[in-house]
Amino acid sequence: MLARASAAALLATLLAACRVERSEPPAAAPADLVLRHGAVYTVDAARSWASAVAVRSGRIVYVGTDSIPRGLIGARTEVVDLAGRMVLPGFQDAHVHPIDSGVELGECDLSAAETPADVAVSIRAYAARHPDLPWIRGTGWQLPVFPAGNPSKALLDELVPDRPALMWAADGHSAWVNSRALALARITRDTPDPTNGRIERDPTTGEPSGTLRESATDLVEGVVPDRTPGELAGGLDRAQRLASSFGITTMFSANTDEDELRTFADADRAGRLQVRVIAALVAPGSGDTMLARLRDWRARYATARVRPTAVKLFEDGVIESRTAALLAPYLDRHGDAGTPVRSEAVLDPLVTALDRDGFQIHVHAIGDRAIRLTLDALEHARAVNGARDSRHAIAHLELIDPADIPRFRALGVVANFEPLWANGDEYLTRMTEPALGPARSRWLYPIASVVRSGAVVSGGSDWSVSSLNPLDAIETGITHRDPGDTAGPAWNPAERVDLATMIALYTINAAWGHHQERETGSIEVGKLADLIVLDRNLFEVPVARIHAVRVERTLLEGKTVFQR
Ligand SMILES: [Zn+2]
Repeated sequence: MLARASAAALLATLLAACRVERSEPPAAAPADLVLRHGAVYTVDAARSWASAVAVRSGRIVYVGTDSIPRGLIGARTEVVDLAGRMVLPGFQDAHVHPIDSGVELGECDLSAAETPADVAVSIRAYAARHPDLPWIRGTGWQLPVFPAGNPSKALLDELVPDRPALMWAADGHSAWVNSRALALARITRDTPDPTNGRIERDPTTGEPSGTLRESATDLVEGVVPDRTPGELAGGLDRAQRLASSFGITTMFSANTDEDELRTFADADRAGRLQVRVIAALVAPGSGDTMLARLRDWRARYATARVRPTAVKLFEDGVIESRTAALLAPYLDRHGDAGTPVRSEAVLDPLVTALDRDGFQIHVHAIGDRAIRLTLDALEHARAVNGARDSRHAIAHLELIDPADIPRFRALGVVANFEPLWANGDEYLTRMTEPALGPARSRWLYPIASVVRSGAVVSGGSDWSVSSLNPLDAIETGITHRDPGDTAGPAWNPAERVDLATMIALYTINAAWGHHQERETGSIEVGKLADLIVLDRNLFEVPVARIHAVRVERTLLEGKTVFQR
């Protein structure tokens, strides 16, 4: 019966196809929305262009020329004349911290401060505006603003004398605290550096000087009051509004604890979530306890738009603070090459267990040793568990040993870059390249080489580490300069890529990394209508103006979630 039924269906399909070719197409049910007279870059396999798209019940039902099939436009169809504007699939941010960063938007923002004096003005003003807050919290200070990236507790004591204060660096790997915060966390000259962390100290007295690196920041985090559910929900709302305004329809939440996961799930269950979320979980504990927790969360918090199917691991820190794990020593640190978070003996069984449980593993690895150890662990997991459709990812990938580049494709590992970082700023020229020398620096952010190797490369913002706007990153991936900058030579020019590649990083490639390329990531009939309208065609504006192109409208599953 089944065979006969499907044969009949096949015959019907063939007949229908013949009819379409030979005569007028049959009248279709009217669409909810028709966009026409546009520059529709579909990002399908052929990278084809169209001029019209129609959407019905949240899905794309037509992509083609402006000769819209009869019946698609009905009395209630919204018909938009795009007048040449561009349509793209919704952007997907493959590494971002939506809730944390949304919460931070409401706190003291230091990201624009260029001097210690600017920083001081912002903190003093914020503390004065919030006399009732028990803690003064902020984020976004740039390491190059302070000598050796090392701001002092003395300065913060002067700005916030009456309350504990905690200011996260823009990269999230260093925290700056005042004396009250140090006292509450019981950090003194006698406190040893924790594993994988460093308490910066006054070289003569040995007293903590006010800056904490990596796991040393946990000492203070432990005494900071938890965010309330209301604060987390407010953070998510700010984040998703901003994301929609930049055309982002899927976010990979790169570091999600249970409170954040519950915040996403609650928002979706209440019908307030306007972005798809793939959550990479971080659970307390280790071994079987941690695994049991992860499995429980994956089952309990999954909703239509929230997929808690990934796990986040850190394998090292960052090069600027000399906490990334390198294959050869930092040139300015006497034989010190940084330490990976986990040795092979710990990482391999952990990765193998997560892989066996069907989790997608998302590893922060910045130095060439951390990246190699991670690839080794993923290779080990594949040898033990067999090849699965796992699509594990390594994020950030600042310094890759060229010998490891072919391994991404060979192992089916997604290479997740933050292309905005390849801009030749002071983090690179002043704090990174001098510690590596020119030969190793050639392999900083080797995006073009990894793309050429045939690996799947996806793009992320790591917001609030850097701008959430994908167009900033898309421009910098092409220019290797700051958005809008046209002066001087491009940084590491051999690793630049073209516009089509950059768009793929934020659409179809990221969708593949999110296990949702069958539903999203390109504009094709049958896919979900996650679509954006841009005010200009990215292929027609000067490259240094790409960042200035504006998203005019964002649709999630056919529903408008942003309109300028
Ligand atoms: Zn991150």
